[in-house]
Amino acid sequence: MSDAPSRSHGRVSVTASRRPSELMGERPVLKDAWHARVVTLFPDVFPGVLGASLTGRALQEGVWQLHPVDLRTFGEGRHRNVDDTPAGGGAGMVLRADVVDRALRHAMRGAPMDRAAWPIVYLSPRGKPFDQATARRWSAARGLTMLCGRFEGVDQRVLDEWEIEEVSLGDFVLTGGEIAAQAMIDATVRLLPGVLGNEASTEEESFARGLLEAPHYTRPAIWNGRDIPEVLTSGHHGRVAAWRHSEAERLTRERRPDLWAEYLANRGDDDA
Ligand code: SAH
Repeated sequence: MSDAPSRSHGRVSVTASRRPSELMGERPVLKDAWHARVVTLFPDVFPGVLGASLTGRALQEGVWQLHPVDLRTFGEGRHRNVDDTPAGGGAGMVLRADVVDRALRHAMRGAPMDRAAWPIVYLSPRGKPFDQATARRWSAARGLTMLCGRFEGVDQRVLDEWEIEEVSLGDFVLTGGEIAAQAMIDATVRLLPGVLGNEASTEEESFARGLLEAPHYTRPAIWNGRDIPEVLTSGHHGRVAAWRHSEAERLTRERRPDLWAEYLANRGDDDA
């Protein structure tokens, strides 16, 4: 199954003040940044790993912007309480609906309420598993707002009221949504035009065509007695492409029977 980008690249703009050399660079000049607004009790952990490498450079260049929204400032009373004990009893604390609502209202100021243009997401182990297709969809939006839970989670009523999209990083339980938020923002931001040096590299990589990626090799030609598959040094582009494709199929068949079944089903469609 293909999840080809649906993003319109119409945001790319050229300004008269730019020098021709800049206009011809690999990275287009973006008119509006993509926005990530993150409601969290730990705003200081952002940008975290997103401040490094390609996502960090794109953040500095204004390709995207990050706004952590400190949930604590919307808390109740002198102590800015954000949580309370669960109705019905049990362990732990639950983030209050009224407090989270105030933070979300703040985070959504000026943002379009059309969810395709601006998804509102709660990071949650109960959510739909995050995948590359979700990253593509989000990268085609103008931005998104994320709510990071802590403790036992969030009062259900505020999730229902906002019709929040629940998304999970995987079938395990984290102590909070912040790591999941950073992982998902990373996967989304790298799909924005101009973030990766070589745009073509998102078309070949894992999941882009429903397959895992073939193995990579680089110098030295022989390392620890191990050489590079001969076809890769042949200089024959057709054979290299065929080898990569068959390796991608082999790895997917061996490691991910779920993806392999989907791939075979889609391939059947194409042949029909
Ligand atoms: N009691 C909850 C777990 C709460 S973990 C349950 O059993 O489902 C505390 C917070 O961490 C959650 O509110 C959520 O925001 C975040 N979190 C935990 N695991 C996550 C995962 N796999 N994906 C995304 N967010 C997660």
